[in-house]
Amino acid sequence: MRVKCVLCDKLEKIEDGSPLAKRLRNRPIHTYMCADCNKRIADRTEERKASGNFSTFRQAVQEDTW
Ligand SMILES: [Zn+2]
Repeated sequence: MRVKCVLCDKLEKIEDGSPLAKRLRNRPIHTYMCADCNKRIADRTEERKASGNFSTFRQAVQEDTW
């Protein structure tokens, strides 16, 4: 089936029998993102997670010092 990336409008073809195609067919609301955009989102999420971990870590260190 053909899918269109919701972020960059790139058209891609995915296997009809793939788990992704099944998911998109069961939930039309579920939007498709191409690999590039997926990676971009994942990178951003990782960055946020990393900075979140960092502040948690600093807080823990400060609590130890006090
Ligand atoms: Zn895309």
